[in-house]
Amino acid sequence: MNMSEEYDVIVIGAGPAGYHAAIRCSQLGLRTACIDKSVDMNGAPAYGGTCLNWGCIPSKALLDASQKFEDAKRFEDIGITIADLQVDLSAMMNHKNDVVASLTSGIAGLFKGNGVVDLPGHGRLVKDCMVEYVPADASEPEILVAENVILAPGSVPVDISVAPVDSNLIEDSTGALNFTAVPPRLGVIGAGVIGLELGSVWNRLGSNVIVLEALEEFLPMADRRIARDSLRIFQSQGLDIRLDTKVIGSKVGSSTVVVDYEGKNGTESIEVDKLVVAVGRRPLVSNLFSEDSGVSLDEDGFISVDENCRTKAQNVFAIGDAVRGPMLAHKGMEEGIMVAEQIAGGQPTVAYDRIPSVIYTNPEIAWVGSTEQELAENSVEFNVGTFPFAASGRALAANENQGMVKVLADAKNDRIVGVHVLGPHASELIAQAVIAMEFDASSEDLALTMFAHPTLGEAIHEAVLGISGQAIHMVNRKSGSSK
Ligand code: FAD
Ligand code: NAD
Repeated sequence: MNMSEEYDVIVIGAGPAGYHAAIRCSQLGLRTACIDKSVDMNGAPAYGGTCLNWGCIPSKALLDASQKFEDAKRFEDIGITIADLQVDLSAMMNHKNDVVASLTSGIAGLFKGNGVVDLPGHGRLVKDCMVEYVPADASEPEILVAENVILAPGSVPVDISVAPVDSNLIEDSTGALNFTAVPPRLGVIGAGVIGLELGSVWNRLGSNVIVLEALEEFLPMADRRIARDSLRIFQSQGLDIRLDTKVIGSKVGSSTVVVDYEGKNGTESIEVDKLVVAVGRRPLVSNLFSEDSGVSLDEDGFISVDENCRTKAQNVFAIGDAVRGPMLAHKGMEEGIMVAEQIAGGQPTVAYDRIPSVIYTNPEIAWVGSTEQELAENSVEFNVGTFPFAASGRALAANENQGMVKVLADAKNDRIVGVHVLGPHASELIAQAVIAMEFDASSEDLALTMFAHPTLGEAIHEAVLGISGQAIHMVNRKSGSSK
């Protein structure tokens, strides 16, 4: 094997975590290479990892397109008539694929523009910051030498033996982004983020969707009131979400799948035309590092790192989905930037307690900080302000008035400690809360801030005003839990 190039930093993986790290390293003057093995449907290198190729971006393209179709069905409510509304699924998929292609090629352009050496192919850390690189073009493998290595290999879907993804009738999230026809009956295992987002896409496009969820509680990580309200809304949209339902087997026939499950009524079955398995993701660590590299895994199979993303091997870092914490693109991006700055001598940190979560359903669900349950468990006294979108002029004008904002403030010092939104553009609104919390704002700070009228953001303003009993567009209640 050839020994060749030396770099200040080699990044393995060009997903959101890896490409952020690589670009920032290069911006900081470090000679940087980034190795990635992902390819597009034509076999060409495709940077951007899960997020750009078969995650955040294609799912949002389909969520937005399918929501526009859904909205168009209700255009009569606002005085617009469409004679013959149709879905052209192949054109919709082409649109999604174009968005993906444009963004993944954009990363290649950003690498070039920032001086990152991109190396398509497989990377494996051996020891002493040496990396075995197997090029995608089948040319001779090389050993690359670096001062620092950043592992950013991402994650893959979890498989379950009761529903193996080994036929074209049982798919994972990647398959569910590429159906060539709308399945009349779609089963989804898992009412988590992927199950709800992709279940919503196909429900809007005409599938009868049944979501089978093992847990009794819906969205246990979310605010209880918001989880309850959103479950009711999703069910009213036609998503048949069955909680406390454990899949125990599946039988693939010539064109359908029979799924057996244990639920509240004992053992039952459903027959569907496609089944999507969305039961979580696991870190992709196979063939990533040698035993003598010094890198180790934690008990859950993630790469062991400290709070600064340092592994147990000297000058080797790991970031993104492959390390502890939520599997979210923006969490990996921030870790990538943090590690790059650390390598260049800085001391930045990631605000792990202020990572926003978003579920891109309709209405969207978004939150940051603590839930009421978590505050109660930690004996933190808090005040609550809520505001329903049904009382927001802008939400009513847009015919999107479901949901609410809930703001939680520490009773001792009035600092905002959690914001929870179910409603239109919650994904955008939550940024206001993240900024407020980043600057340690109190609910009074936000109450004294001027919000443009009429905007959805006013719902956050009214919710914080509600904490001190000063909301204008609803009758104020005594502060306390709104459960
Ligand atoms: P990845 O994006 O998985 O990238 C890792 C890259 O490393 C891949 O290209 C992989 O091929 C490459 N690689 C791995 N091992 C090697 C190796 N040994 N050699 C060379 N290359 C290697 N998150 C959000 O925040 N918002 C969303 O809306 C959202 N939507 C999602 C929708 C779906 C359907 C899915 C599946 C995920 C979604 N996520 C979303 C999660 C998000 O995609 C991940 O959190 C994010 O992509 C993780 O980034 P990463 O860089 O850690 O890893
Ligand atoms: P998830 O952890 O969000 O949900 C999986 C669900 O499947 C859970 O509710 C779990 O109880 C259920 N489950 C597990 N085993 C089951 C079984 N045998 N039968 C029935 N239900 C079962 O995982 P996901 O939806 O696959 O998403 C994976 C990751 O991707 C998540 O960590 C998420 O953060 C990320 N993601 C994020 C977004 C976003 O930010 N909008 C979108 C998609 C994916």
